[in-house]
Amino acid sequence: MMDDATRTEICLACGATTAMPAMYCRQCGKPLDPAHQPAPSGSKWHQNVWLVLFLLFFVLGPFGLPLVWKNPRFSRTVKMALTLSMVVYTVVLVQLTLHMFQAVTQEVNRLNSILQF
Ligand SMILES: [Zn+2]
Repeated sequence: MMDDATRTEICLACGATTAMPAMYCRQCGKPLDPAHQPAPSGSKWHQNVWLVLFLLFFVLGPFGLPLVWKNPRFSRTVKMALTLSMVVYTVVLVQLTLHMFQAVTQEVNRLNSILQF
């Protein structure tokens, strides 16, 4: 009979052993074989990768990043890449908003000068 505390998983990527339970290799950080993982505790909505991505880019913006970091289906690399792209996305969005605001302000000023209020 195997003791849970002494169970280890061999990493398919680098061959290092990691004590279970663990999601990622302690040596290289790659996700360990999901078939050997303990059964997932139900399919929580924030574990749905596409739903999280949709919420991230269309609803929550940078506020959705904690969902990404909590999601065990994203590897550390994907989490970093998503965080980075969210930062870029936010900067672009803010700049677009500022440009739009400036364009509206200029248009209002132009109309004001034409109409001689
Ligand atoms: Zn590894």
